[in-house]
Amino acid sequence: MNLINCRKCDHEYDGDTICCPNCETPTNHNIPNYPRFKGPGIIMFFWIFFVILMIVMMVSYLAM
Ligand SMILES: [Zn+2]
Repeated sequence: MNLINCRKCDHEYDGDTICCPNCETPTNHNIPNYPRFKGPGIIMFFWIFFVILMIVMMVSYLAM
């Protein structure tokens, strides 16, 4: 158990926990914040969806 100070609210808490129990700021800088992690993920999802849509359109066009 190692006590650390929160980098946002300066609350002292156990460094083994994922985030500050007071303000929920992530302990580790390497753990991505969910909004930052979601951004490129959603773009990637739409890109894959678009590629699949193009393949489906191409296949249905060739099938005619
Ligand atoms: Zn905090």
